[in-house]
Amino acid sequence: MNITEMTVAALTEAIEKRELSSREITEAFLARADETEPNVNSYITLCREKALEAADKADKNDVPAIKKIPFAVKDNVAYDGVRMTCASRMLENFVPEYTAEVVERMGGIVLGKTNLDEFAMGSSCEKSLFGATHNPISYEYSAGGSSGGSAASVKACSAPWSIGTDTGGSARQPSAFCGVVSIKPTYGLVSRYGVAELASSLDTVCPITKDVFDSALVLENIAGHDRRDMTSTEKESYAGEFTSAIKKEYGIRGLRIGLMDGFEKYCDEAVTKSTLHAARIAEELGASVERTEMPSGDETLGAYMVISQAECSSNLSRYDGIKYGYNAGGDDYREIMRRSRSEGFGDEVKRRIMSGCYALSESHGGNFFAGIKGIRSRICREAAALFEKYDVVMLPTAAGCAFRLGSFDTNPTMLYASDMFTVFANLTGVPAIQLPSGGNGTLPCGISLMAAANCDKLLFSVAHTLESEMKNYVASEVGNVR
Ligand code: GLN
Repeated sequence: MNITEMTVAALTEAIEKRELSSREITEAFLARADETEPNVNSYITLCREKALEAADKADKNDVPAIKKIPFAVKDNVAYDGVRMTCASRMLENFVPEYTAEVVERMGGIVLGKTNLDEFAMGSSCEKSLFGATHNPISYEYSAGGSSGGSAASVKACSAPWSIGTDTGGSARQPSAFCGVVSIKPTYGLVSRYGVAELASSLDTVCPITKDVFDSALVLENIAGHDRRDMTSTEKESYAGEFTSAIKKEYGIRGLRIGLMDGFEKYCDEAVTKSTLHAARIAEELGASVERTEMPSGDETLGAYMVISQAECSSNLSRYDGIKYGYNAGGDDYREIMRRSRSEGFGDEVKRRIMSGCYALSESHGGNFFAGIKGIRSRICREAAALFEKYDVVMLPTAAGCAFRLGSFDTNPTMLYASDMFTVFANLTGVPAIQLPSGGNGTLPCGISLMAAANCDKLLFSVAHTLESEMKNYVASEVGNVR
């Protein structure tokens, strides 16, 4: 088999058996990137020399096999000595002097930094200083966003796996559009140290992989306590925990699954059909599947928008053109700040900073933000009750397959609605895994499974069972990568 088509698990085994070296693997993925990048544009920066150097070092040293596998990293995650742009003019030339915890934990052989919507705000991976990422299955279509580059690199086989981030769906939605797997873990499971903040109470770091087993394998290696992130889990290590849950093959017999009621009214035919198909398979395998109303329906998206925009306006206030980042010059602090922000940030970032400031301001917003926080607490309480009743909740990841690039150019805020199925997991902190469920004949679509906080393990075993049962169906509904 071609190296670039192998899973992380297979590559790890090949390294253990000394059939492949880290250098050979790294070279193969870099060569594949040379082939696919002109059409896909997943990467902002390729780290060719640095990756090969790190691979040679890993080959010489006695490090665990999984840490010898190279990977791609979303360009809002720091890697020492390589620019981290967040796809923004503001950070076009910013070179961090530290490496994110998650990158270090996986051995740090970084193939390159992947494309995203500026500062991870968006759902199409078009709002990038470096141009749009194209869906590897059909280039005129979006790869989804904001982690579009990370999802596309895995689908195009220019990376064996990649790091994405998910604040409101940014790893799951592009994974659905590209037909790959991603888990948004329980909040705090993976350290955020070295990850550019968007909305700190919602931000999560997520592996994007070819299949569910790889997702479990990577997550169990990156999860765990980090003293540099005070919101990280107290548990030191998850080594072996998620893959062993899969290997035990618990199956899904006897599980109580809640299927989101009324999802069909938002979804296109392919998504509706494949979600119903997944529910039917679960039932055939012995789960009880019941329609359930999602708590606080419409309020969820509204609460997400206000909270994420308020937190982003506060987090991005550090970019003033003085401390670091783009400096447009000027005579005094205020002028430098005004000019640097005007020229350094794109429209979507400005739009969110402005509405976030409004929500937080005493004079305009009043107690607005406090009210929204109350709504969030209520949604969390309702989520707890939901997961008392059901082991797993199933719903589509996005309402449709990938849309054409440029579809939202004239009406950018319409795109906010595309997060309707994903933001619940961020607001409540529960884990959610996206896996391919079908497609429209060409492009894929996906379903998401959610469980109570810290039940990531359960999600992996359920998702793995469904994945193997749905494999042939999914393949028959989706086209191939070019
Ligand atoms: N699409 C969402 C948004 O634009 C998600 C962003 C994210 O998860 N980083 O807010």
